[in-house]
Amino acid sequence: TVKSRFAPSPTGYLHIGGARTALFSYLFARRHGGRFVLRIEDTDRERFTEESVNAILEGMAWLGLEYDEGPFYQTHRFERYREVIQQLLDEGKAYRCYCSRERLDAVREKQVEHKEKPRYDGHCRHLTEPPSADAPYVVRFANPQDGDVVIDDLVHGRIVISNTELDDLVIARTDGSPTYNLTVVVDDMDMGISHVIRGDDHINNTPRQINILKALGVKLPVYAHVPMILGEDGKRLSKRHGAVGVMNYRDEGYLPEAVLNYLVRLGWSFGDEEIFSLDEMVAKFDIDGLNAKASALNISKLNWLNQHYMKTLPPEHVARHLSWHMGQRDIDPAEGPPLESVVEVQRDRYKTLVEVADNSVMFYRRPAEYDDKAARKNLKGEARGALLALKEGLEAVEDWQRADLHAVVEGVAERLELKLGKVAQPLRVALAGVPVSPSIDVTLELLGKAESVARIDAALA
Ligand code: GLU
Repeated sequence: TVKSRFAPSPTGYLHIGGARTALFSYLFARRHGGRFVLRIEDTDRERFTEESVNAILEGMAWLGLEYDEGPFYQTHRFERYREVIQQLLDEGKAYRCYCSRERLDAVREKQVEHKEKPRYDGHCRHLTEPPSADAPYVVRFANPQDGDVVIDDLVHGRIVISNTELDDLVIARTDGSPTYNLTVVVDDMDMGISHVIRGDDHINNTPRQINILKALGVKLPVYAHVPMILGEDGKRLSKRHGAVGVMNYRDEGYLPEAVLNYLVRLGWSFGDEEIFSLDEMVAKFDIDGLNAKASALNISKLNWLNQHYMKTLPPEHVARHLSWHMGQRDIDPAEGPPLESVVEVQRDRYKTLVEVADNSVMFYRRPAEYDDKAARKNLKGEARGALLALKEGLEAVEDWQRADLHAVVEGVAERLELKLGKVAQPLRVALAGVPVSPSIDVTLELLGKAESVARIDAALA
């Protein structure tokens, strides 16, 4: 049975490229009715903090990528790693290396001088006795010295590496702690991972990991190395390109549905189709559709997808996400019109939830001030007269719904012989503080009678 995993190192956030790898790994497991594992590779204690682990869990939850097993933490498994290191030593598949830093440096220097690839020269491989009883040592894996390692990668095809290219890797440091390649191998083995789907920045580790797995006598997983994401300029993605953490995308007003759809389409295609819900991705995903070349970010595509999902997902669903943005603005959506009604009137007008939120604060908070230029033009002179007439007309409305409200605004314009805009614009400024809002009747309807009248009063004061 299929079991895939996502194995991020906690670095402070869930990187957008990592999220895409996680998505592919998740889709592969789901597509094949398998299981998906989350493993936190937190052995680098210096960099690892609880917050950075939480950032990964938060990112996974926000995207809705559910795992069947985990999260597992490598820091909880040190005993097990020690056990495997001992096993390899006992079976003669690993050895203690007592070489000093100075000796290793000297070897490297000589190799560089002779234009050879720097590598460990195997000095301690056949040592029968330690140089002294308490000499410090690292443990090295005894890599096979001939033959090839063959990887039939699902994305990159067949990759062949000669064992003469690989030296004897350190698998335990002087303090006994395991190194990265060892922990990955032990975990993939113990967790029964059938498919290792990960970033192709790890492709150089794979032959080493395969040799260790072979030494342990376990069935090899299938590998799929997923290409990286590049910035819009085609360069390796970094902070310089703006948002690189998944939660930055939430902060910028994107829906998780849009981000997932965007990520899956970066380097994966299914005919000409552009729109995929998570369920549709599961039904259609196939590693064969993955491009082996890196793909570049394309923010206008993301904006387009976000707009699509804002418009088409159920308003209650969009409202749940909008609610978070309102909270960021110290707005409690309970103190005003239902947020899903606001979604319905605003969602066609904007590309992101940040824009929707910014332009919807007015439904929950009276304008503290009025846009200066708009106020000068809209709250003085003939506009004042219009506002007074509107107030009177609106106070008389019994059935507070948009058709009747529209009739009042139109009636006032007719009576005062003003163009509709000359009446609607001052009303907008009175209600919203700025000359921008959804259509005036809808705005009135959502605000309700008492609040609308109170705002007109405040503007006239
Ligand atoms: N922890 C590694 C990373 O975050 C991934 C290792 C793997 O998937 O094998 O890059």
